[in-house]
Amino acid sequence: MIIILLGPPGAGKGTQAKVLVEKLKIPHISTGDLLRQNVKNNTPFGIEARGYMEKGELVPDTLVNDMLLARIKVDDTKNGFILDGYPRNNAQAKILEDKLDKSDGIYVVYLQTSEPVVIQRLSGRRVCTKCGANFHLKNMPPKKEGICDICGGALYQRPDDHEETIKRRLDVYLKETASVVDYYDKKEMLYRISADDDPDIVVDKIIALAKPNRI
Ligand code: AMP
Repeated sequence: MIIILLGPPGAGKGTQAKVLVEKLKIPHISTGDLLRQNVKNNTPFGIEARGYMEKGELVPDTLVNDMLLARIKVDDTKNGFILDGYPRNNAQAKILEDKLDKSDGIYVVYLQTSEPVVIQRLSGRRVCTKCGANFHLKNMPPKKEGICDICGGALYQRPDDHEETIKRRLDVYLKETASVVDYYDKKEMLYRISADDDPDIVVDKIIALAKPNRI
């Protein structure tokens, strides 16, 4: 089973994916997370990607495609995976289509939300420097300010979660990524779900699509 989560930055793709991992026992593959790991470790990928990411722009396809294709070949994906942040344009969607086995169940979920919700979610997001857990200053504050509830690591604000960069990411989304929604819609592969509901409700709706007998 392959679940592809689409939607603007801040639609909650990462949050939904983490719960889906627990419930479906398949890995979460986020190209944003993979890139941030490369940036943190100063790999050649990371050094090239950093500038684009800090400006809120897309990292060139050649870099992202190689990284993603290597990741989906790893053994833990044999029962499927949840993809978050990829494809971000139609060229990436075509590359992915060529690589996926058509007999796998492929569910493309479009998490719909609005710009004010996105800005509120992203500008308040804080991430743990150690374990990567996400918090929100208002919606999900840590018990102790600036400290991760799970591992005690320091929380930080992603450089691309500052308001100006959020706006740039939304522009890029509208210009380059929104067409991916049409791409899958035309192929009749798209399921639309409101991302403004409580995360548990959104996750149950996604699972109901992929495993209709489960809930
Ligand atoms: P995300 O965590 O998905 O919001 O991604 C953070 C940043 O990583 C984006 O703003 C892009 O700069 C870069 N990125 C993530 N996924 C892709 C992708 N599929 N193609 C190009 N750039 C990407």
